[in-house]
Amino acid sequence: MLFVRSWLTPRQLRRLLSCWSCNAASQEVICSQCGKIQPPQQEVNYFKVLHQEEKFTLRAQDLQKRFRDMQRVLHPDKFANCSEKEKNFSADQSALVNQAYQVLLKPIQRATYLLQLKGISLAEVQLSQEFLLEMMEFNEEIDRADDSKREELLGQIAEFEELAMAELQEHFANKKLSEASESLAKLKYFENLRNRLS
Ligand SMILES: [Zn+2]
Repeated sequence: MLFVRSWLTPRQLRRLLSCWSCNAASQEVICSQCGKIQPPQQEVNYFKVLHQEEKFTLRAQDLQKRFRDMQRVLHPDKFANCSEKEKNFSADQSALVNQAYQVLLKPIQRATYLLQLKGISLAEVQLSQEFLLEMMEFNEEIDRADDSKREELLGQIAEFEELAMAELQEHFANKKLSEASESLAKLKYFENLRNRLS
């Protein structure tokens, strides 16, 4: 979505929302009127960049297909004979598409981003004392673990993760965002544990 500053005149505003080349109203990557590449919008939403519905459960195939299509459209070869301005726009758009894909592809990053869009920060999540104590004990076990024990602990973490991921999916589906942020905070704990073991 475009962030519109209130001191813009109607004329400036129109220019901001329209194609730099032909002035047609355009919010697409490529102007539908004249086919010129457009600069990225000022305030972007990664779901919109990749034409996905703004929700947690995405179809990986759709996402990948859309990503590949856009990579093709934005390929530098396509702009070889264009002006510097257009080359820069296409490079900016391409970087944005890559960034959006990286975030939406990975469930933990996607969930974090989705919550951030809803104004929810993980820093505010309060996990139960019980959970935190459990994690402390787990950390101590990691400190003491030999190789075979480490394997076992990795297996346990994988189970924790699977459970928390299923919870996360369910909470998002039921639009229970505060519960979703708890599941996500847990997943981040588990990721740290796994990093300690690998
Ligand atoms: Zn145009």
